[in-house]
Amino acid sequence: MDQRTAIVVGGGIAGLAAAAGLVRAGWRVTVLEQRQDHVEVGAGLAITRNGMAALEGICAGTTVHAAGYQAFVAGTRNYRGRWLLRIPDTRGDPDSMNWVCGVHRRRLHQALATAAGEAELLTGAQVRAVEAGDPAGAAARVTWRKDGSEHAAWADLVVAADGIGSTVRTQLFPDCRLAYSGKTSWRAVISATNDVDERFTITWGPGTEFGAVRISHREVYWYGYFHYPADTAIHDELAAARRHFARWPLDVQRVVGATEPEQLIRQDVYHLTVPLPTYTHGRVVVIGDAAHAMLPTMGQGANTALEDAVCVGRMIAAPVHVGADLSDAMARFDQARRPRTQAIAQRSRLTERVGADLRTRWSQALRDAAMRIMPPAATAKAGSQVLRWRPPPNPH
Ligand SMILES: Cc1cc2nc3c(=O)[nH]c(=O)nc-3n(C[C@H](O)[C@H](O)[C@H](O)COP(=O)(O)OP(=O)(O)OC[C@H]3O[C@@H](n4cnc5c(N)ncnc54)[C@H](O)[C@@H]3O)c2cc1C
Repeated sequence: MDQRTAIVVGGGIAGLAAAAGLVRAGWRVTVLEQRQDHVEVGAGLAITRNGMAALEGICAGTTVHAAGYQAFVAGTRNYRGRWLLRIPDTRGDPDSMNWVCGVHRRRLHQALATAAGEAELLTGAQVRAVEAGDPAGAAARVTWRKDGSEHAAWADLVVAADGIGSTVRTQLFPDCRLAYSGKTSWRAVISATNDVDERFTITWGPGTEFGAVRISHREVYWYGYFHYPADTAIHDELAAARRHFARWPLDVQRVVGATEPEQLIRQDVYHLTVPLPTYTHGRVVVIGDAAHAMLPTMGQGANTALEDAVCVGRMIAAPVHVGADLSDAMARFDQARRPRTQAIAQRSRLTERVGADLRTRWSQALRDAAMRIMPPAATAKAGSQVLRWRPPPNPH
């Protein structure tokens, strides 16, 4: 039988991980990435249990472990330093759901590129259009622009992993638009400071969420997600960040204070408010932010993108490689992935409502009082349902 072919649109986290899964299932893979340099910018990430399980499913778990820093989620406090939810310290428990691996995005990217080794990566290739084809008939066709000229190729499967502003999603699902979250986010990787140890603590203040996690022995990643109008320039970002957190706990002030101007980046945060009716269309499967761009309040965007990617390999590529029907395999993927990721996106919105959305003193006081009477074990259990995910078995 001829080797099956896949074109992956986008060489980000989802795209490279999907390429790794497809290659492992015996497919010939081309990744089209619009950026010339293909160096991941951005700061850090916290890989949770489910994301690590996905990485292990494409044989990248050990590398990411080694490249990152093991931390654990200590809980959530308010900006006056009072704990709202304190998660029991389960360090040393191999089954703990609180465990996270802080990692620099660039290192995660390198690990994924290595895992996708045999895939052909074309950089500077901007995809313009996709003809979705028919799983039982015509192949899919992808058109892209590279070095000033148009190119096109046919494939058995197209994986749309082109991120939040996805060209492919916009073409196939024009009604599913992005909306501004009402918030922007500072992010920075700074030299390690004693203010951040192996605990990953989230802090909620007026209209703001702050978090910091170690991503190596030498580095700490922090983010501050806060209300701000879209597309609004700030003259001196670092001075504004220092002012913003001036009355927050001392450790937060010191982390922001230790930041150099060139380490600080800021990005307005958008999300998909109208969920996609399906993650598959013809021979196209949509994954990662392209399918379910969610708010960052549960830290699940990249983790669910990794889940999607390993499922492309295990639920579509591997079964089809051993004779399964492509439309059946794509339907099973959609049934498995859409409810889960859309529920997590929904929970991210709910988390935001009790976190960074609250701007007034009374609304925060009300929230704090309600959270203090909630049993922490129940809250932690609800979160752990997301984290318990494991990749489907390989059909080989
Ligand atoms: C402030 C903030 C903090 C976050 N923190 C976390 C966290 O702690 N944990 C977590 O799990 N998630 C987090 N996320 C979410 C996470 O960053 C995203 O969910 C993740 O990067 C999505 O990966 P992706 O591969 O789908 O998209 P991307 O990483 O955006 O990759 C898409 C790729 O496609 C390429 N591309 C786009 N269009 C085209 C085209 N037409 N042709 C060719 N290539 C194209 C792009 O250049 C890019 O390389 C956070 C997000 C924000 C905003």
